[in-house]
Amino acid sequence: MAAVGPAMALDYCPGCGRTVAPFELNEVGCGVCREEGRPFARVFRTAAYHGGFAEVFRRYKYVGHENLELFLARNLAREIFQSECYDDIDVLVPVPTCWQHRLRRNLQSSGQAFHPAEGLARLLSKHTSIPYAPLLNRIRGGRSQVGLSFTARLENVRGKFRLARGCQVAGGRVCIVDDIMTTGATVRECAKVLRRARASAVYVAVVARAGEDAASLNLV
Ligand SMILES: [Zn+2]
Repeated sequence: MAAVGPAMALDYCPGCGRTVAPFELNEVGCGVCREEGRPFARVFRTAAYHGGFAEVFRRYKYVGHENLELFLARNLAREIFQSECYDDIDVLVPVPTCWQHRLRRNLQSSGQAFHPAEGLARLLSKHTSIPYAPLLNRIRGGRSQVGLSFTARLENVRGKFRLARGCQVAGGRVCIVDDIMTTGATVRECAKVLRRARASAVYVAVVARAGEDAASLNLV
């Protein structure tokens, strides 16, 4: 097993999840997210998509590994517990995957259905006692985000998510759960849907935060 400690020990910006040095932060976040603005209150992450962790992450995402999934979920739960926001989260909501992407992943792997964000959100719920609810749906169409630039990713996911039929989030404090945040385009779009539905606060929890260089190299 590759060494994962260094990538998990790196400091990150709670505003956007990017790896930063502590002196780069102020109460709003790092220089990048102060400039960009964001539709979510803060990000929790387990590690940077970096070094040995990237190898471990790909095994978790594309092959599936029960113990590894549990390890990552526990560490993410700890991030939430240790924050000042634990009592402020009402529900964990996975980023939905469209059926075409799920099918392709199944064919590539062991043949078992595997959707990392769903599995992660369920485990996170178990370890934090915060309820799990799949409140978002993904509309058919669009392609995988892998290999797209930030602008193309934003365009690719625009209008692709909606609140599941009969669900309401007005006044609720929601934490979106996903396996990886690369440019942040997907979680931004999900957060916008939830804010439009009058969620009072939106948080994001991801296993790994990649740099934009990973997107440009078609790694994730
Ligand atoms: Zn930031």
